[in-house]
Amino acid sequence: SNVAFLCLLGGGAAASVAPRAARPVAVGSAYPARELCSRCGLCDTPFIGHVAQACAFLGDGMARIDAAEALAHGRARRLDEEDELYFGVHTELSGVRMREPLAGAAWTGVVSAIAIEALESGLVDAVIAVGARAEDGPARMEPRPQLCRTAAQIRACAGVKPVLANSLELLDAVRADASIRSLLFVGVGCQVQALRAVEAHLGLDALYVLGTNCADNVRSSGALRRFMSAVSTSPDTAIGFEFMQDYAVHVKHVPGPADTAAQGVPHAPADSARAALYERVPVFSLPQSGLKDVIADSCTSCFDYSNALADLVVGYMAAPLRHGERMTESTQYVVVRNARGAALLDGIRPRARFTALSSNGDRRPFVPGIVEQDLEGLLGDSPPQLWAMPRWLGTLLARLLSRLGPSGVEFAKSSIDYHLLRNLVRVRVTEGEVRAAAAIPAHARAVEAAYGTLADELVARYRA
Ligand code: SF4
Ligand code: SF4
Repeated sequence: SNVAFLCLLGGGAAASVAPRAARPVAVGSAYPARELCSRCGLCDTPFIGHVAQACAFLGDGMARIDAAEALAHGRARRLDEEDELYFGVHTELSGVRMREPLAGAAWTGVVSAIAIEALESGLVDAVIAVGARAEDGPARMEPRPQLCRTAAQIRACAGVKPVLANSLELLDAVRADASIRSLLFVGVGCQVQALRAVEAHLGLDALYVLGTNCADNVRSSGALRRFMSAVSTSPDTAIGFEFMQDYAVHVKHVPGPADTAAQGVPHAPADSARAALYERVPVFSLPQSGLKDVIADSCTSCFDYSNALADLVVGYMAAPLRHGERMTESTQYVVVRNARGAALLDGIRPRARFTALSSNGDRRPFVPGIVEQDLEGLLGDSPPQLWAMPRWLGTLLARLLSRLGPSGVEFAKSSIDYHLLRNLVRVRVTEGEVRAAAAIPAHARAVEAAYGTLADELVARYRA
């Protein structure tokens, strides 16, 4: 059992620079968190010796965020202030885009630009980011974490890889390299939680953490291929996708002979990023049969959409999306949590455009139905729906909802509500109330309370 495994690893934090001696998980062996493991990479290094305190899915799991926020940022999250409840501790929350978009980036290149500036200005000696397994073909969306020492290496990591990535595996190389005194880590919440737990053991003078929002990551390369085949009319030319505020999945394609297969609108080819074609698939037209078992189990037990422990977070859900706008033209948003985050963002201020965020609509009538529908897919016994709504009808419905539903900050809050509530019910049902009481952080409990008896009713339905 996990308990026996963790006893072998020992308990109690040691204040030494060297990692507690322990052997990484052997190829093909089970990880300590087993099916909940997000393959963050910690257990692929000798830092596995800290797994009992570090792993977001063992013991108190993500509830450790409650105390860790104060350690990382100097104060705890204010749960009675709605933007803090949802986006975490912050000193600044604003829209942002690069004035000159970076070719090859998923958006305008804010994350890449921050990382490049941090390296070139000497703020950090190295950057851990996620590159692609291949330059071309389906593997260009599959992750290969990189320890970057040049701007070109960071640039090559541009673009989202929506699959679990074991980035913390590179911590061993960082610790072994005496020339790395200061590191920038770019990653998602579960990785950052484990990283914070071993930060003091890395032997660094400074650690900067640039986080991205994260929800519903894909469990494997095979699952990503199944997903793309189900969603896109041209899966082999896809280079990125996002679920957007207009209730559509925007799939970005490389320009080329297969362009005609993609239902996008050709763009004036000012540069390669703008020449890419886009396909917009309404979420109501996604075939459920192709989506089963795509999301990793870790991600349906996750309570850190907002990446609470990063110094600076870049996301897109809270930013406005204008009708017809492409990802490479869209504004994103930044959450500055502390002085290190401000220093990172300061590096790109002259080249970025900042805007105030807007918020419209009311999320509360929309959230319960989405949670119920998702839980039925995860925990229910109804047979999967074998038909999908035709795209024209799905598009009409998506347009209608875009007008009536929440947008901007309110849309981000609806997405956070939905993921937190769905995952909270799933953890309560599948892992039991004792573990749920230990592992669910305070901000998720506050969202649960805001929806009255909804979670209790859903737990009772699926526990039966
Ligand atoms: Fe180890 Fe990370 Fe998996 Fe937890 S999530 S078991 S720390 S590899
Ligand atoms: Fe990790 Fe949560 Fe993202 Fe999944 S959704 S990869 S568990 S941060």
